[in-house]
Amino acid sequence: MKEHYYVALDIGSSSVKVVVGEKFHNGVNVIGTGQTFTDGVSKGMINDFDQAKNAITDTIKKAKIASGVDIDEVFVKIPIADTHIHFTEDAIRFGGEATEITGEHIEELLENVRMNDPAGQHETVSVYPVSFVVDSLHEVNDPKEMIAEESLAVKAGVVSANRTLLINIVKCVEAAGLTILDVYSDAVNYQHVLTDAEIELGAVVIDMGLDITQFAYYERGSLKYANSVGIAGRDITLDLVDEFNTSYDEADQAKEQYGHAFFDLASDDEKMMLAQNDSGKPAEVTSKDLADVIELVVEDAFMAVFEDLAKNGINNVQGGFVLTGGSANIRGIKELMQDLVAEKVRVHIPNQMGARKPEFTSAISVLSSGIMFDELLEYVTIDNH
Ligand code: ATP
Ligand code: MG
Repeated sequence: MKEHYYVALDIGSSSVKVVVGEKFHNGVNVIGTGQTFTDGVSKGMINDFDQAKNAITDTIKKAKIASGVDIDEVFVKIPIADTHIHFTEDAIRFGGEATEITGEHIEELLENVRMNDPAGQHETVSVYPVSFVVDSLHEVNDPKEMIAEESLAVKAGVVSANRTLLINIVKCVEAAGLTILDVYSDAVNYQHVLTDAEIELGAVVIDMGLDITQFAYYERGSLKYANSVGIAGRDITLDLVDEFNTSYDEADQAKEQYGHAFFDLASDDEKMMLAQNDSGKPAEVTSKDLADVIELVVEDAFMAVFEDLAKNGINNVQGGFVLTGGSANIRGIKELMQDLVAEKVRVHIPNQMGARKPEFTSAISVLSSGIMFDELLEYVTIDNH
């Protein structure tokens, strides 16, 4: 049987990432990746069409070379920016005829939900089942192969996003010569970084990138809420620029190499020289000096997340907090968060070889979403060698 590959595209504010993978047991096997830094994207949105398009083309090329796979079809993620989630129900009826439920019934149901969703300035991105009800009686996660006589109903979540954001991402990806198989919101994608226990109890995934810190809350098995705040990696670097009178690039490098997010644990002995904007003489700075600035910014971002969660009735996060995204590379970020909350905290780094960086979490989760929906709708039979 033909190998079946999945390709995920994450157009981030800092870089475009592509991951080529395949289903492997219950997870994803990464075959190759590509990454290109770009100025064509800002706050998760395309702000220079040509630059963004070129970055996509370059990244696809890199991923092709790395994986040896020809890429023309991709799954695309869209960020949690101006994103809404609501819940609805729909059903199909069988009129008393015993019917074995297949992926096609599920697809029809989810398509009905999509069609019946009122169109506004928001566009439906993902419809995901919270649960199915067979003959108004049996509530199940996956009704395939069950027999229904009266009806199959679904309780579904609907994720919608800003129409302009979505249209421009789609247009840019197509201009790069690619066919989009499906688009998934990160709100749907991040469920794949949680364990069954976390997602049952109620957990928050926080992805801190360059321009945005996205977060999503899952409970009793599915997505309940998602939003983003505009404090992230760029703000950390900009505050270092201000505090240490140095250039953006110099501050960024210092942050990535010596940065620490938790003042109490940062070292006084780790020293670096930072070129000064207005004098010939570089200044000596310690990791602890950096931490003094970084801690405040990261704490601000976390506080903004907590405030938004509380405003939306999410006060009890028994399953804990999972930190990821490029800015989760920073040392001490877990300890800082743990200092702020009583719940369990962990950092998620993908464990696939070649993609062991938290900035690849979104792209890899897109692959998992692709596999999840394919299995639910019985789209492909995958050969696992
Ligand atoms: P966004 O999600 O905001 O649209 P993005 O997805 O492109 O952007 P990421 O690739 O997840 O962003 O992360 C980029 C950020 O991670 C940058 O601000 C970068 O400085 C930061 N970063 C990367 N490595 C480190 C590190 N070792 N220490 C601190 N920050 C880091
Ligand atoms: Mg990102």
